[in-house]
Amino acid sequence: MRIRIERERCVGAGQCVRVAPAVFDQADDDGLVRLIEAAPQGPEAERARKAAQLCPAQVIHIEDQG
Ligand code: SF4
Repeated sequence: MRIRIERERCVGAGQCVRVAPAVFDQADDDGLVRLIEAAPQGPEAERARKAAQLCPAQVIHIEDQG
């Protein structure tokens, strides 16, 4: 799994950070998402998928590699 975010479209809602705090963070300055781990494994990967579903701006994109 590889994660790509469209940071410029993030609305800072923070759902991703609550669901997957090892993968996403919110920047102290502008409150927008920061990607901590672009290629999570195991349970963290599942949390990242959940975050992508919950993100109100739909800016978290999960790319699965074959
Ligand atoms: S859930 Fe989406 S909109 Fe909210 S902080 Fe995370 S990436 Fe940004």
